[in-house]
Amino acid sequence: MDFLPIFMRVKGRLCLVVGGGDVAQRKASVLLDAGATVKVVALEFSEAFTGLHGIECVAERFQPDHLDGVALVIAAADDSVVNREISRQAHACNIPVNVVDNPDLCTFIMPSILERSPLLVAFSSGGASPVLARMLRGKLETMIPQNYSRLGAFCARLRDTVKARVTEPAMRRIFWENALEGVIAEKVLAGDEAGAETLLFSQLENENKVHTGEVYLVGAGPGDPDLLTFRALRLMQKADVVVYDNLVSKPIVEMTRREATRIFVGKKCSNHTMPQEAINELLVRLAKEGKRVVRLKGGDPFIFGRGGEEIETLAEHGIPFQVVPGITAASGVSSYAGIPLTHRDHAQSCIFVTGHLRDGSMNLDWDALARPRQTIVVYMGLHGLDTLCARLIEHGLPDSTPVAIIQQGTTQNQRVITGTLATLPGITQIEKLQAPTLIIVGSVVTLRKKLAWFSPREAEIPAS
Ligand code: SAH
Repeated sequence: MDFLPIFMRVKGRLCLVVGGGDVAQRKASVLLDAGATVKVVALEFSEAFTGLHGIECVAERFQPDHLDGVALVIAAADDSVVNREISRQAHACNIPVNVVDNPDLCTFIMPSILERSPLLVAFSSGGASPVLARMLRGKLETMIPQNYSRLGAFCARLRDTVKARVTEPAMRRIFWENALEGVIAEKVLAGDEAGAETLLFSQLENENKVHTGEVYLVGAGPGDPDLLTFRALRLMQKADVVVYDNLVSKPIVEMTRREATRIFVGKKCSNHTMPQEAINELLVRLAKEGKRVVRLKGGDPFIFGRGGEEIETLAEHGIPFQVVPGITAASGVSSYAGIPLTHRDHAQSCIFVTGHLRDGSMNLDWDALARPRQTIVVYMGLHGLDTLCARLIEHGLPDSTPVAIIQQGTTQNQRVITGTLATLPGITQIEKLQAPTLIIVGSVVTLRKKLAWFSPREAEIPAS
């Protein structure tokens, strides 16, 4: 983050715009909208200024004393030397300055805004691409109805009342979230403010009851944040506490509510992982404290995720929970590697197994795995790769059966190694792979040659 986003009160304060063109006019009008006293200094003023009332136009060349008593200045002159000079002088007097189209000379930049007063949303690309910021604003413009202003005004009117009745800040936030996500907001948006107010007061009556929290067991997908579901994102934004482990990618953890407490329960090295029972107990304790807990898990919580165990404990303690499915590694990683798990010409079935070694061996139904026209997806299988390939050959799969190993699929670190049951075991590149990795066995792997579409900076490493 190169800039600190803040909203500044300029009501009644003198703000200076230097420049008489259309850009200067637009800046002057935003300042006017924010209640500033606006002075514009320029040798000539474009036509756009004629319709702009309430500003003082000074037809002079810029001079340092124009900065006297000014709360902020915007340099929009068509002469870059003048703009640079304004920036220099403003810096010297500690006056916030914006130079149009020159972020390096600015102490503040002006965002693109979406206004539903009192709600105000500001968009900035930090000067990198104002067009991109404006496009994003355009998208949200269509999603946030105009009558959100009415909702904002409703909240402003009742804010103090709610604050006096619900004194605990976390509870108050939950109260407002429920109000704004439910019938109360709908009533306001539909114009029935009296009905909304009655409902709000009746909900305030019930506020003092003891609340138990809730746990959301959320599948975060295989890594790319774009693969989160809408519901996952919505709950992540509501969380008081987020409990996550190393399979959840950093950008996804960053998308959880900023104020939420984040608890990491697993380190890369497995001997530092919090035992499952301790995680189960932690979730119960947090929920009993009234917290809304998001338990974020990589992929899908119900596929090799021990999600079942976690909610069993919650159920035993009578704690409300929801499960949000996620895109499991088999599905996400194979898609990004260009390997369809089924294909009419290659495989009619697909089987997911864990290749986790117990006492050095893999306890799998090898006959069921070594079937023709079937794709096998192996989770947690890298350490057992040699055993896996050997057993599959022993149980009848040709040693030429194609295999792919995919590291950190769907992320910028995705790497794919392809080979066969015979060639892959023991190749040195495998040692350099970074967890997590997924193994796909079956002739569908050959389709990758044609269908690979996602290659971040990925080097294809053929091992055959
Ligand atoms: N619940 C998860 C799986 C947890 S088991 C899910 O549904 O995906 C952990 C295993 O998942 C890893 O050992 C690896 O085999 C696989 N995995 C998860 N994310 C992956 C990714 N981005 N790339 C490759 N494999 C991944």
